Amino acid sequence: MTKLLEIDQLSIEFASGSGTVRVVNGVRLELEAGETLGIVGESGSGKSVTSLSIMRLLPKGLAKVAEGDIRLHGRSLLDMSEAEMQKVRGNQIATIFQEPMTALNPVFKIGRQVRESIRQHSRKSKREAHKEAIVLLGEVGISAPEQIMEAYPHQLSGGMRQRVMIAMAMASNPDILIADEPTTALDVTIQAQILELMKKLQQERGAAIIFITHDLGVVAEMCDRVAVMYAGQIVEQGDVRTLFKEPKHPYTIGLLNSMPQFSGEKKRLEAISGQVPHPSEYLPGCRFAERCPSKMDVCESIEPALYDFGNQHRCKCHLYRGDMDAAHS
Ligand code: SF4
Repeated sequence: MTKLLEIDQLSIEFASGSGTVRVVNGVRLELEAGETLGIVGESGSGKSVTSLSIMRLLPKGLAKVAEGDIRLHGRSLLDMSEAEMQKVRGNQIATIFQEPMTALNPVFKIGRQVRESIRQHSRKSKREAHKEAIVLLGEVGISAPEQIMEAYPHQLSGGMRQRVMIAMAMASNPDILIADEPTTALDVTIQAQILELMKKLQQERGAAIIFITHDLGVVAEMCDRVAVMYAGQIVEQGDVRTLFKEPKHPYTIGLLNSMPQFSGEKKRLEAISGQVPHPSEYLPGCRFAERCPSKMDVCESIEPALYDFGNQHRCKCHLYRGDMDAAHS
């Protein structure tokens, strides 16, 4: 059966002063209709770049897909013309970003912006789109939608702006919603409300969601499956329950131990020591080697293979090389 979305051995390069650097390397991911996939990792892991490449929104002249493919309903997005891609962005894939102010136009009223996003993918008249905009804003929990239609983005709170963005994203009834850290800038209560809203809309409309986050708590709350990214590679992936119960990769284990509900400790939580290396400094072996508490001699010189634990639970780490055959490198 054709998958909704397949990312196949995707590698992305950025131009730098000294040539090119590969910031995403050999990423393979699949997304089924209606499911929520979390992509988790620290800043610099390549998760946002991966999501931008799905929309073909990598900065032109600076970044490019060097290898691999991205297929929507079996069709390569990389082969599409810009006009076709614009249709995909308007109708099949929608996005919500961390800071709605970057996506909302500050000089236009909310009503006009929601109305236009409705008219972009339908033949509705201005009047019809206006009515639908009010309904949509109501659906995302805005209590006085007529009033909000007359407001400018800066007059709304961060939570309200994110609700507006969700309304605009859902206006096209997308097959896939890409949400890149959509709640990171919000306080905890509003964050919980926005997550709840996204879940509700997903149940009602059936869109698949790719949730880009650094927060495993959000993954536990929202996702069916999760891919852990580190330094441009997926180091572990699986269904959320399995990965939280039986994490295999030392990086995943470190991330989980830094969550209060997993460590059970009240003290200030320790982040994993060190930082994600810059792409120009990747070692030939495991990219996590400099931070890994389980590092062995082989780790710095030979890149680990990806080992399959069944049920699509995979991990890229030498610790498992004696136990099983590699799924692929
Ligand atoms: Fe740690 Fe080695 Fe596994 Fe990398 S391959 S995560 S350094 S044990």
